[in-house]
Amino acid sequence: MAPRSLPGEALSSWLARFGARYDLSGPGLAMALLRGTERDADDAALHHHLRRLDAAAWPALDRVLASAARLDLSAVEALRRRCSDHWSRVGPPPWCQACVATTAARDGEVHWRAEWMFAFWVICPVHRRLLGRACPLCARDCFARPIAGRLRLWCPACARDVTTQACTRPSLWPLSEPPRSRVCPAIVVDPRLRETLRRMQGDLLHAVSGRRPTGPWGRSSSPERFLEAVRALSFLALAATWHARPSVRRPRTLTPDWSFCEEPPAVVAGALAVVSAVLASAFEPPWPGVAWTPELLRGGETPDIAAGSLCWHLAPDETGLLTRLLPTTLLAYRDAFEQGLAATASVLARNREAARRRAGFGGAQRLRDAQSRRAPPA
Ligand SMILES: [Zn+2]
Ligand SMILES: [Zn+2]
Repeated sequence: MAPRSLPGEALSSWLARFGARYDLSGPGLAMALLRGTERDADDAALHHHLRRLDAAAWPALDRVLASAARLDLSAVEALRRRCSDHWSRVGPPPWCQACVATTAARDGEVHWRAEWMFAFWVICPVHRRLLGRACPLCARDCFARPIAGRLRLWCPACARDVTTQACTRPSLWPLSEPPRSRVCPAIVVDPRLRETLRRMQGDLLHAVSGRRPTGPWGRSSSPERFLEAVRALSFLALAATWHARPSVRRPRTLTPDWSFCEEPPAVVAGALAVVSAVLASAFEPPWPGVAWTPELLRGGETPDIAAGSLCWHLAPDETGLLTRLLPTTLLAYRDAFEQGLAATASVLARNREAARRRAGFGGAQRLRDAQSRRAPPA
């Protein structure tokens, strides 16, 4: 009763559709199959593996799946592709409602693409919509579950199947939203950001498979350096958009395994927009589509996001992190950041970020004005 895998489908998606035939979730089916063969399989370890199904090799599962589906082992292994562990989302991915509605109208059920498991994949290149987990009717979280032997999207709030429901809400956050309701109130974006995000996520996916980026943010970088630069700057950019989401879990320092794997696309897209502009600013004039919100700017300051202007959003310990990153990972961008750090040190007090957070975002401009009045003339 195993369904055929679809072109570009993620292993976790095929497993979820397979499970739906038996009214089980994907992980539920995997647990049932594994318990038959591995007597001492421990539940905690199984759950950990199941959350990283598309990224980490798991020969025991591949074998039981191949046998249950009457497929060659290589056919199951071939479904696990494109995402390395470091860059893979955990658990079910966010989706493009337009893609889901179109393909489900054809196939009778939901499936998800391997790219959607990639932590930096935030926008659908076909429909130019931000990926998400929201119900197209009520905007609350919904999820895939088996209904009558097929995998469908179910909204608990609407208490209905919303699989083929067209989106009636705006297609990309946060276009034209007032600062208070933006996910990342430090920045404003316009529709050109869609193209930026599409190119950036494409370059990141290429880089994971060893290809050089083609965008103005890293043409000269090796794929490894480019990935590490984006990862490090994303960590810092989250601080710049931090106020919006104090609940974002983030370590204080950049650890080797930190990535966006648990963040929702709206947060990843905000940070990635800042990173794209910052990296491009080392090579080109201001990159269009994203800018600092006017409330943050001092008199005469332009809203362009660049290496220098990212520096004044950072707390002192984060500026230290940036300095440590400069000699190695971010060599190509070093000059731009050094200018930014020098300008920041001459204008802003060391405790500015802590004070800004206490003051709230609306207080940022007043605070910066006061600090620059106190600073000695250059
Ligand atoms: Zn789509
Ligand atoms: Zn709903």
